[in-house]
Amino acid sequence: MEETKQKTVLSGIVQSMEAFLQWAKENPQCKLSELEDRVQKVKTEIGTQLLEAAVAQQGQAALAEEQCFCGGAWVIAGYRERHVMTSQGVIRVKRAYFTCERCGQGFFPLRRSERDKWGVE
Ligand SMILES: [Zn+2]
Repeated sequence: MEETKQKTVLSGIVQSMEAFLQWAKENPQCKLSELEDRVQKVKTEIGTQLLEAAVAQQGQAALAEEQCFCGGAWVIAGYRERHVMTSQGVIRVKRAYFTCERCGQGFFPLRRSERDKWGVE
């Protein structure tokens, strides 16, 4: 991952934690259960950000290595964003989108490792 991008992700995570601590400081009378609930929310926020960043990082390294089923070559047709529900909440996944120059089918060609990741055939 590009260093600037990584710093942005990490600073977003730090901000989530700082906001929680600030809230706790300003609300000393709150119940322990409220702090617990808020920590849980922060953990989920952090998980979402980390997972999204890790997926984006791996996606950048992915190149279209395979041909269309019809034997045609892929031509990059832009990028599409998908929302994927994970155990860490909904993450945004940006993927290169390809169309086949022969049959015109649109695909997100996935490498073997990505097929395993997303659980698709
Ligand atoms: Zn094709």
